[in-house]
Amino acid sequence: MVREKIEIVEVGVRDGLQNDPANASTDMKLEFIDRLLEAGVRRLEAASFVNPRAVPQMADSKDVMARVPRGRGARYIGLALNARGLADAIDAKCDEVNFVVSASDGFGIRNQNADTAETVKRFGEIAEGAREAEIFCSVIVTTAFGCPFDGEISEERLLGVVGDLLDHKPDELAIADTIGVATPWDVKARMDAVQDLLASRGASVPLRLHVHNTRNTGIANVFAAVEAGVRIIDASCGGLGGCPFAPKATGNISTEDVVFMLERAGFDTGIDLDLLIKTAHWLEEALGHSVPGMVAKAGGFPANVL
Ligand code: ZN
Repeated sequence: MVREKIEIVEVGVRDGLQNDPANASTDMKLEFIDRLLEAGVRRLEAASFVNPRAVPQMADSKDVMARVPRGRGARYIGLALNARGLADAIDAKCDEVNFVVSASDGFGIRNQNADTAETVKRFGEIAEGAREAEIFCSVIVTTAFGCPFDGEISEERLLGVVGDLLDHKPDELAIADTIGVATPWDVKARMDAVQDLLASRGASVPLRLHVHNTRNTGIANVFAAVEAGVRIIDASCGGLGGCPFAPKATGNISTEDVVFMLERAGFDTGIDLDLLIKTAHWLEEALGHSVPGMVAKAGGFPANVL
């Protein structure tokens, strides 16, 4: 039987390490990428072209991109928040660029110095630049379920932002629970609502979910998204991560936990769980601290003992 595919976007190298206290070296990032590719990861956030003063952990993004393995089928994503970042991502030969729009004004102003309306406008320019350069361009809607500064984000507000973004024709739409406040029911309801909006606009834009496991709902939220038909999931090896602009946001849901759950359910993630677990263990050594993922602690499904 052909298994249905679910694509994992590994965000550990960027979203994960950019908030890790260990301040990973360029060599360490490249070894991390190599290990992820060995495990079967084929799409990963590798770089961020934002002001290095704001995010010093990503200041070596150009060097990382200059040395990433090519020809192994991997697609490397660079984060860009303005035209200069887009130009840098293109120069660095990123395969894709991700732009961020906050669903809340409070987070947008702190993260990008612009409210939602202004950031949507900026996305229009980025999307046009990306089309000209023929580089795949995703937009990530952050704080889509709640904001550390503005509190509740209504479904109407989220749909309004998504609707405005669709005018600029993103290649992919990611919905992000930046501070880990969503419950599975929120995820189901909002993913359904976004898909209804896409259908009503005749837009066939792939949907992607990005969750943080701050309140332990991460894996349940991935389940809810998959149940709602989402087939692209962000995760970070070991559950690394956080966000320098979201107070107390903890890591992404761990890739091993997601891969274990999805493969047991019969989906094909293309990822070798044992190699991924080994990579999580290597991360603990390399960073000098433990990682929060659960499956890396327990291992995969037990083999038969004869
Ligand atoms: Zn994140």
